[in-house]
Amino acid sequence: MSDYRAPVKDMRFVMDELAGLRELSQYPDFAEATTDMADAILDEAAKFTSEVLAPLNWTGDREGCKLTPDGVVTPTGWKEAYKAFCDAGWNGISCPPDHAGHGQPDTIAVAVKEMIQSSNMAFSLGPLLTTGAVEALLTCASDELKAIYLEKMVTGEWTGTMNLTEPQAGSDLALIRSRAEPQADGSYKVFGQKIFITYGDHDMTDNIVHLVLARLPDAPAGVRGISMFLVPKFLANADGSLGARNDAYCVSIEHKLGIHASPTCVMAYGDNGGAVGYLLGEANRGLEYMFIMMNEARLGVGLQGIALGERAYQQALAFARERKQGRDALTGEALVTIDRHPDIRRMLMLMKSRVEACRAMAYFTSGLLDRAHVIEDAAEKSRNLYLAEFMIPIVKAGGTEMAIEVTSHGIQIHGGMGFIEETGAAQHWRDSRITTIYEGTTGIQANDLVFRKLMRDQGATARYVFGEVAATSKALAASSRPELQVIGKRLGEALQAWIQATEWLAANAKTGLSGVLTAAVPYLHLSVTVCGGWLMGKAALAAAGYLDQGAGDPVFYRAKIATAHFYADQMLPQAASYAATVLAGDAALAAVTDEMF
Ligand SMILES: Cc1cc2nc3c(=O)[nH]c(=O)nc-3n(C[C@H](O)[C@H](O)[C@H](O)COP(=O)(O)OP(=O)(O)OC[C@H]3O[C@@H](n4cnc5c(N)ncnc54)[C@H](O)[C@@H]3O)c2cc1C
Repeated sequence: MSDYRAPVKDMRFVMDELAGLRELSQYPDFAEATTDMADAILDEAAKFTSEVLAPLNWTGDREGCKLTPDGVVTPTGWKEAYKAFCDAGWNGISCPPDHAGHGQPDTIAVAVKEMIQSSNMAFSLGPLLTTGAVEALLTCASDELKAIYLEKMVTGEWTGTMNLTEPQAGSDLALIRSRAEPQADGSYKVFGQKIFITYGDHDMTDNIVHLVLARLPDAPAGVRGISMFLVPKFLANADGSLGARNDAYCVSIEHKLGIHASPTCVMAYGDNGGAVGYLLGEANRGLEYMFIMMNEARLGVGLQGIALGERAYQQALAFARERKQGRDALTGEALVTIDRHPDIRRMLMLMKSRVEACRAMAYFTSGLLDRAHVIEDAAEKSRNLYLAEFMIPIVKAGGTEMAIEVTSHGIQIHGGMGFIEETGAAQHWRDSRITTIYEGTTGIQANDLVFRKLMRDQGATARYVFGEVAATSKALAASSRPELQVIGKRLGEALQAWIQATEWLAANAKTGLSGVLTAAVPYLHLSVTVCGGWLMGKAALAAAGYLDQGAGDPVFYRAKIATAHFYADQMLPQAASYAATVLAGDAALAAVTDEMF
């Protein structure tokens, strides 16, 4: 069990230096998003998350959720914390002001979301799904549905869910079988079973708004025959008051490795005559609408990994500063705290540097999405959007795969106590394990990067990124500071490995498909490694600039440079080995027959 202190200083630095917050506040839509406003919001969020949400993280994990005849009951304190969360306005922080939101840019909201997830990941999933559903309604709901549902979901009075998965349809949504039958009054009756539905039922709000993917009777087979329906737990009257109970029930909840306090529900629609639903947008375009929301959702899950890595780092650091074992190998001093041992220091710095690299990527991508939203020039708008979409699988897979390794280091630093549940280190690792699975597994992210993001513009976005990385490497190498020169050199070498691997993928995309599919995940890891180094390098340059001017907090800036240097020494050399794996393609795998497994 550990306290949580939001890393506000690093968050603010990344927002200003890498995500471009100052520039963003010059656009009328974000005129209020000044640096002063960011300071005020982050300070409040830090207080709320550490005082209200963090203390419930461990108790929620112990107690879990229960399914009773009256529905799902959340752990002690959940209802009160959710009310306080909504009363403070955190639910709608980035939602549009004309629907009761606060209209803050993602560049600020991303830090608030990280704090909510760090302090209590299981709690954070309810609001995350609700915001996703709000995004869907904004994209494709009729004005009538918007008038009834949007404001209540933005304020958190009602929560939202996303119902894609069925027993036979996980990564492959073409296999969805749930169906919807048109009714004379223009509504639909929805039938089917959905599994793994996060916050599918709970006791925190009076109503729950399910967004359900299902097929119309005449729908074509495959992904082009899926429509999206709004299916409320209680039907709503035109004035927003509650009507009859709908035929949408949670029939069981899953027992899971982690996120015990987040109810994961099997949902039955239509077992008692049909669940009333309303078509969202046009028929057969449901998956397309889902993909519009995918950027935010995948960025949000990448951020979960970063948040858990940060929490595990804080806990491991606190433990290492207290636990005494062994002699200091360098000074000979007897019985020292374990943070004096170089191997423990190495693990702590691996945790810190990888979390900071992934945070840099996530916030940078939020800044791109904000710019794509407000910039009017069409070419600039699409350049920002393409770059953001290129970064999304890198942030999602990078943040979540990092979290599993970093939370595991957290356990290792605790020694045997890390394996004991009461310590709390194990919970971070257990909670992180789902993040590489939902919202598209790492394998699916790799395919997205290689076959969509890399290929769709004939590599133009990738070439733009390569140019930016090269410019950063050159600027670092030209610095008078030796540690920046080292970062520049290692970044340049890693970039060459990335370019070589990318050229190999392009050359083999048509004629060596099996090799490219085999290489996709190693290529994704390579991309994560280099992009992390690129943004850490940019951070080091900015920190050096402040040190040269004698401005700001010198300890923080020196730490930023040391962390980037550590990342360059320990992580960037891995780019070459990932590239070698990519270039090996399926040479060995192709020789493996089914009987050999
Ligand atoms: C705790 C939890 C919460 C969830 N919340 C929700 C929710 O709120 N709403 C919702 O709709 N769903 C939810 N899900 C479902 C989740 O999104 C799916 O589990 C996920 O998409 C993977 O699908 P699957 O489990 O069927 O695995 P599968 O699709 O069967 O995948 C199994 C393995 O095969 C690999 N694989 C599959 N296809 C390919 C391919 N084409 N190329 C390469 N590898 C491939 C995968 O990477 C994976 O390693 C949740 C799941 C869990 C466990």
